[in-house]
Amino acid sequence: MKFLPVFLDLKNRPCAVIGGGEVASRKVSLLLEAGAKVTVHAPAVGETLRRWIDDGKVGHVAREFSPPSLDGCALVIAATDDKAVNRQVSDAARERNIPVNVVDQPDLCTFIMPSIVDRSPVIVAVSTGGASPVLARLIRARLETLIPAGYGRLARLVASFRDKVKQRFAHSSRRRQFWEEVLQGRIAELVYSGQEQAAEKALQQRLDAVDGGQPPVGEVYLVGGGPGDPDLLTFRALHLMQQADVVVYDRLVSPAVLNLIRRDAERIYAGKERDNHAIPQEDINHLLVRLAREGKRVVRLKGGDPFIFGRGGEEIDTLAAEGIPFQVVPGITAAAGCAAYAGIPLTHRDYAQSVVFVTGHLQDGTVNLNWKALVQPRQTIVFYMGLHGVETICRELIRHGMPPTTLAALVQQGTTRNQRVLTGDLQTLPSIVDKAQVKPPTLIIVGDVVELQGRLKWFEPSAAN
Ligand code: SAH
Repeated sequence: MKFLPVFLDLKNRPCAVIGGGEVASRKVSLLLEAGAKVTVHAPAVGETLRRWIDDGKVGHVAREFSPPSLDGCALVIAATDDKAVNRQVSDAARERNIPVNVVDQPDLCTFIMPSIVDRSPVIVAVSTGGASPVLARLIRARLETLIPAGYGRLARLVASFRDKVKQRFAHSSRRRQFWEEVLQGRIAELVYSGQEQAAEKALQQRLDAVDGGQPPVGEVYLVGGGPGDPDLLTFRALHLMQQADVVVYDRLVSPAVLNLIRRDAERIYAGKERDNHAIPQEDINHLLVRLAREGKRVVRLKGGDPFIFGRGGEEIDTLAAEGIPFQVVPGITAAAGCAAYAGIPLTHRDYAQSVVFVTGHLQDGTVNLNWKALVQPRQTIVFYMGLHGVETICRELIRHGMPPTTLAALVQQGTTRNQRVLTGDLQTLPSIVDKAQVKPPTLIIVGDVVELQGRLKWFEPSAAN
């Protein structure tokens, strides 16, 4: 190990920053966040530093650097663009045994500054030992996505219960078990979603209940998995998928998204193929209830958004009736995902001022829709589940007054590496489906905006995840 990672307590300690530019001001800002008493040494300072100095937040020595000015400092950072001055600072600090960092000159440093993820009081620091600050920043960016913003709040809640929990458990191993369960379970989830009072109450209840040996209550997370590209998941969806005990998923959820589920989570396929539901809806609803009653964290993973043609409402209705706690995580719906990846803006000032999402699902061979409301000028129509009924859809739109030359697009498996976009008009669409053997899941977009596709397409499926 080239450097020993430590966390310094700099509260009210004198620190010196040499240099008055932008880089210096960033370092000053960090030191201020750690509560240090900062003095800037520079004949001239930039705007940000000037403001802090005028506000009295930061001290200022408006002279060229002189070594004795470091006397008594707890820490020194040199951030000038003059190499000679930087070296002078480094030498002066070393002579006085003061830790010194010189920005971008590792050979002059006795300590280096890590990239940090700040979830105070939780801080994650990343260092590559000076080898590559860019790599450190990339790692930090990955960690940012993995560590929910609520970790800081969670740490504060834990701190406020620490003594109580300590008293309750005689053995440290039981105590550890208790905290592991709290930090990975429903109580932590409540904190992440901003429900801190509920979390505190649940933690107290949990603590009161431990001696009685009551099993913990599970929870169901109804999660939108987006249209296919795993990069389109929300941070929250990913986070819940990575800590689930069991995931109940639909056919629409792409393999690339399924790949992100925690390795040892149980996976249950709930089907949802046309006319071939692997598990009837009623049974899915009750399966979720049963799993949660077993104390499990259940992710109910759906394609797109759970509240858009996802029957999410029905599933949580049963949960609500049975008193099972649940949360809903939105996802990017197929219309938004397919439109973006096909290069078809659903609204556009020159083409369409409104967009409607409708189901094209056939019941008894007919599509029972309010066609008059659909056939409006300057309106884009997006049909979900419309492939099977494409012929009826095109015929009815024409019958209710839409020009047969109105443009339409088919987007098959949008946002994935198998995406296909085919365009035509209301007359040609059914035969395109036939000839090109278009398969579900496919979205149908009808309206003048389809014209833009030729100019605005950008996505290369073969290069996708
Ligand atoms: N809840 C989902 C929709 C479920 S209905 C959502 O918000 O996206 C299923 C229909 O969605 C499919 O028949 C198809 O029309 C559409 N669909 C879902 N994912 C799609 C994709 N990746 N590409 C094209 N269409 C998709």
